[in-house]
Amino acid sequence: MAIRTVVWGENIHERTNKVVAEVYPKGMHTTIAEALNTDGAISATTATMEQDQHGLPQSRLDETDVLIWWGHKDHGGVSDETVERVAKRVWEGMGLIVLHSGHFSKIFKRLMGTPCDLKWREAGERERIWVTNPGHPIAQGLGDGFAIEYEEMYGEHFDVPEPLETVFISWFQGGEVFRSGLTYRRGNGNIFYFRPGHETYPTYHQAPVQHVLRNAVKWAYNANNRNTAVHYGNVPIEKAPEPIVERGPKLHAPGEEGYK
Ligand code: ZN
Repeated sequence: MAIRTVVWGENIHERTNKVVAEVYPKGMHTTIAEALNTDGAISATTATMEQDQHGLPQSRLDETDVLIWWGHKDHGGVSDETVERVAKRVWEGMGLIVLHSGHFSKIFKRLMGTPCDLKWREAGERERIWVTNPGHPIAQGLGDGFAIEYEEMYGEHFDVPEPLETVFISWFQGGEVFRSGLTYRRGNGNIFYFRPGHETYPTYHQAPVQHVLRNAVKWAYNANNRNTAVHYGNVPIEKAPEPIVERGPKLHAPGEEGYK
């Protein structure tokens, strides 16, 4: 079965900014989904912020293997309930790919636990994306890397936890560098942060960028979901794997729920 992928787009600048609307007449989310669907192993659909429950009700998330997230203008407009639903699905095993300005999204900050701040500059600079982990599945088919002629600069320090793997590092014309492809694991879920994708530039129309996204969806997919609804709790003495005799003082009565 193809990897069920949902591309989530904030879809605000595409409707309110003339430049962005010209670069992405169907929205960035549609451009990305169409690029993913050129690969038969991926089945991509879209969801956008203005839809009911931001297009991500529980029923939809339950049938999503990998979620891609692009937001910028209104991170605060995403409801906390949606953020928690998405976080829980990541802990269960849903893959999450966070793009560009999604570094400040509620869901990314929730899962990273750090400010996720960075330096930035809008000057249409050339970005060279260097592969720093050539054996990584996300880097396959890219050689040493690739260049994007016009991009926004993101510079270090990127205030995220030390990643599991650094797949790409970017250099910008103005001199800054940035860790632009980072992997994490939270619970059972694989997470990939990918830097490029400023909305006034045609970044997601470019072949190497689309190639990275297809690789990333396949890497993030985890067929082994874990049911987080299972509650572990207090193990009674008679259920201990080895026989034991109770001794010493106790805080809890037998069978009592623990504190939370
Ligand atoms: Zn940007």
